[in-house]
Amino acid sequence: MTRTVYVNGEYLPEDQAMVSVFDRGFLMADAVYEVVSVLDGKLLDFAGHMARLTRSLDALSMDDPLTEDEYLEAHRQLVQRNGITDGLIYLQVSRGNPGDRDFVYPPKGTRPTVVMFTQAKPGLADAPAAKTGWQIISIEDLRWGRRDIKTVQLLYPSMAKMEAKARGADDAWLVEDGKVTEGTSNNAYIVKDGRIITRELSHDILHGITRAAVLRFAREAQMQVEERSFTLAEAQAADEAFVTSASSFVMPVVGIDGTPVGSGAVGPVATRLREIYLEESRKTAI
Ligand code: PMP
Repeated sequence: MTRTVYVNGEYLPEDQAMVSVFDRGFLMADAVYEVVSVLDGKLLDFAGHMARLTRSLDALSMDDPLTEDEYLEAHRQLVQRNGITDGLIYLQVSRGNPGDRDFVYPPKGTRPTVVMFTQAKPGLADAPAAKTGWQIISIEDLRWGRRDIKTVQLLYPSMAKMEAKARGADDAWLVEDGKVTEGTSNNAYIVKDGRIITRELSHDILHGITRAAVLRFAREAQMQVEERSFTLAEAQAADEAFVTSASSFVMPVVGIDGTPVGSGAVGPVATRLREIYLEESRKTAI
């Protein structure tokens, strides 16, 4: 079955789904995106992802071409047309195609480009890695200063991921001024003496939708949460570590730069938070 892709209101076979070479997303990384996970054919945390999309677009003074209902309809159409049970939906909005290359933004009224596609991930919630955990390397954070805007400038995170793979690890944590900012495509946490510690929100990190949900569930379960930055040494001496994202949910981290975290096995807090997150998010999935 060929995949159906959404481009500016049309549902097209993927080999016919195209945007212009002059699109600002292609030439300037002038685009923002969201990734929504699908479990049992339903969308997780949809409203949260839409709220962040609006925030990213506003931060870049980019028009939002669709209403939330239209985005929802397009998400559902893609789930249905591509027969997605478990997987991801990628959504990208760029500043569109001004018909040429120019650093100046295109004139008001230039239509933003909206592209959406699905990625089937059967068994997404049962990833075997959740039982064994990830090995992480650390690498300097060389990204720009507005990481809270979810832009498609993903070259550095991609380089960091490649470095992790080259060193036999699963992912990298990015470090700035001696403190961990976040993972290449996830938020980073440690657990010490029962307290869940994760960097506070600022321009330095993406405001993860999974992060917001996990911290809410943790607090509701009477767990102690501390939003502050932490060093790599602190992480290596922690009882547990983990990351969160829409595609990995809650993923335990069992080693950092070759040093085992805690016992070196997946710990109870990460395991419990993963269970709670999956259970609660499935309840509110739409
Ligand atoms: N930080 C970065 C840099 C990311 O790319 C992502 C995932 N897109 C996250 C954190 C996690 O965000 P979310 O929980 O909304 O997927």
